[in-house]
Formats: sequence, structure tokens, C-alpha cells
Amino acid sequence: MNEGLVDKLYLLKYEIDDESHLVLKDPDTCKQCESRECINRCPAEVYSWEGDHLQIAYENCVECGVCKIVCPDCNLDWRYPRGGFGVSFKYG
Ligand code: SF4
Repeated sequence: MNEGLVDKLYLLKYEIDDESHLVLKDPDTCKQCESRECINRCPAEVYSWEGDHLQIAYENCVECGVCKIVCPDCNLDWRYPRGGFGVSFKYG
């Protein structure tokens, strides 16, 4: 398939920033968290537990806002990506 056609068929497209728009206020707070709702609820599997810390693959975020709402400690400094970065959706 040529690249022009692939560009026309996309439903999700990402412009990746080199800095995360999802920042933990205090990474140590996540070590005490028992539910880790971010891992369980994120539809894009952005969060994972790696050894002793929360890994955030912010590049895959679809900007739904669920993680901000479900964090029991409000430990996430959630922002939209800077202008021009993040996900783009195309319908139909
Ligand atoms: Fe996952 Fe949505 Fe949070 Fe992005 S905003 S990290 S997609 S739960």
C-alpha cells in the first residue's frame, strides 16, 4: 500500500512530543497504592508496573481522561499534550 493511501485511511494518528503530558505528582505515592486503577482502566494500556515503579507510555494516550478521574490519590498532573502533539481522530 502506498503511503498516501495509508495516510488517508488512518483512524488514529499520533504526533509524539518528547516530553510527557502525564506526570506523577509523587512517584512514591504509587508504591503505596493497592488498586492501581490507572493500570486497570486505561483503554490504551498506557500504564504498567515495572519492578518498583509505574511506567507511563504517554505516547499511546488517547486523551480520554479516565486515569485522572480514577486515581484514588489524585496523584496525576494530567494535561493535554502541547499544541500540535498528541492523538488525532478521524471518523468515517
Ligand atoms: Fe489512558 Fe485515557 Fe489516561 Fe490517556 S487519558 S493515559 S488513554 S486513561
